[in-house]
Amino acid sequence: MRSPVPRFRDVERQASGLEPAHCLPPRHERQNNMWFIRDACGIICAIITWLLVVFAEVVVLFVMLIPSKSLTYSLLNGTLFNSLAFLALASHFRAMCTDPGAVPKGNATKEYIESLQLKPGQVVYKCPKCCSIKPDRAHHCSVCKRCIRKMDHHCPWVNNCVGENNQKYFVLFTMYIFLISLHSLVMVVFHFLYCFEDDWTKCSTFSPPATVILLILLCFEGLLFLIFTSVMFGTQIHSICTDETGIEKLKREDPTWEKTTSWEAMKFAFGGPLSMTWFSPFTDLSCQKEPSDPVPMFPQGEIIEEDVIEIPFGTSLDQNA
Ligand SMILES: [Zn+2]
Ligand SMILES: [Zn+2]
Repeated sequence: MRSPVPRFRDVERQASGLEPAHCLPPRHERQNNMWFIRDACGIICAIITWLLVVFAEVVVLFVMLIPSKSLTYSLLNGTLFNSLAFLALASHFRAMCTDPGAVPKGNATKEYIESLQLKPGQVVYKCPKCCSIKPDRAHHCSVCKRCIRKMDHHCPWVNNCVGENNQKYFVLFTMYIFLISLHSLVMVVFHFLYCFEDDWTKCSTFSPPATVILLILLCFEGLLFLIFTSVMFGTQIHSICTDETGIEKLKREDPTWEKTTSWEAMKFAFGGPLSMTWFSPFTDLSCQKEPSDPVPMFPQGEIIEEDVIEIPFGTSLDQNA
């Protein structure tokens, strides 16, 4: 049964031999430090996302709400739009700056594998790129350069992976962007009607041509965001409810994990029983505080060389070598 293992191992060794800085000794990683991926494409996409929300904010305020004759209409819509936009940007920030579930680098040591107390004959895999033992359902992301627990996909728009720890914030981001897009489209329709009925020179602080261009641009942006976020939101909720990540769906492999019910999966993803905290990007995922397997904060010992490790029937991993 173990014959394919050394062949696979040799291929990985050959490939890794090209990288001189491969598998450094275990590093002591500081916990709770800010998570931010230094990827130029992701940073540009994240800035574009913020700028598009700011553009929508400017058009909604200065073209539609401030020139409106009805103070009640302006106040109600202004409060609603600004609150949703604030929640969207806060969710974006949390999705971007929350560790999506990175596996500590360099924990592929004999001591760590022994601490997992696995059954003899069980097989564990080492990620040759981050030199860590891959937990079940973790995948390596080449942009984040880390193995991520329950990685769904890497999203450049939030410049981060969507994984076990930040999926809630990503879902909230798509939901709030969907809502502000819908709200701004409704306001654009009302404002066009208002301008057609009233005087074009009085229905906006801008000139009539500038008003029309800005409203059409907002319409275009709103429609694009509406379609994009509704697809993303639906896909994410489906992934959570079916307890299957985007990568697992793509691979179409038989699940190696025990699937939970849709409701339990939703409660796990959103951090507890249904409450207002589900919709808040400011609450943490309290029910996910304990990782699904014990991870030592500071990996001890030498990195093992094998990429596929079968737990021996003896008492020590040395017997497996
Ligand atoms: Zn990895
Ligand atoms: Zn990633």
